[in-house]
Amino acid sequence: MYRSIRLEWIALAILALSLVAAVSAKPTAMVPRNIVDNTQTLAPGIPTFSGVDTIVITPVFTFPMHGFAANALALPEHFGTHVDAPFHFAGPGHLFVSGIAVEDLVGPAVVVDVRDKVASDEDYRLTVADLRAWERGHGRIPRGAIVIMFSGWGERWGDPDAYRNFHDGALHFPGFSAESAQWLLDQRDIVGIGIDTLSVDYGPSTDFIVHHIVNGANKWAVENLANLEQTPAKGGLMVVSPMKIEGGTGGTARAYTLFNFDGGQGH
Ligand SMILES: [Zn+2]
Repeated sequence: MYRSIRLEWIALAILALSLVAAVSAKPTAMVPRNIVDNTQTLAPGIPTFSGVDTIVITPVFTFPMHGFAANALALPEHFGTHVDAPFHFAGPGHLFVSGIAVEDLVGPAVVVDVRDKVASDEDYRLTVADLRAWERGHGRIPRGAIVIMFSGWGERWGDPDAYRNFHDGALHFPGFSAESAQWLLDQRDIVGIGIDTLSVDYGPSTDFIVHHIVNGANKWAVENLANLEQTPAKGGLMVVSPMKIEGGTGGTARAYTLFNFDGGQGH
């Protein structure tokens, strides 16, 4: 009897001590204090590459009729904030969106701010020098990075004509250069690239060379990112989650960046 009571008391003491430890423990290193949503909201009328693609949201179940609500969706894979899977431009032998591993959809966000360049050239293309300038300020592009061109074009999102910027026979907006994309693939170890415009190729492109280069390396791109002005240049962890469509060439995605991790990362 004495022995069993004593054991129970010890067990209670251990439980109490562990509760105290749990309450007083510092937050773990994996808890971010900030999260920014890098996703544009899907709706009819948002800017699209074609200018005619849209989303059709059809109520199937409604509160007045059924007591609950559910819609049917029809939309292009490449709509709103979305991922271009490797198959999109590289074809057979390259990953469908369903085949991209989740570990390749999360990575350190490298946000390269070239708004000043774009301000004087709407067809600006990101250069290797821009990437090297980022590294001079922030250190080497980390392994597994998602490299984002921050053009500032997202400010135009609410005005589809300004965002598409079609004039003189072509769309006009900034994008990556072939050289910058090739450099990232050859000289650094990235999982994907992203941009706050309709395409990682600049508007007037007719050969879509950046798509061919990136998808050809079995890498993905995310387009129409939002809120890059709230996303740190360095220290964020970006998550890009496209719909997992079997045989999909891409998919609309929720993208967000976690930063200011307790433990001193972020800025
Ligand atoms: Zn696309």
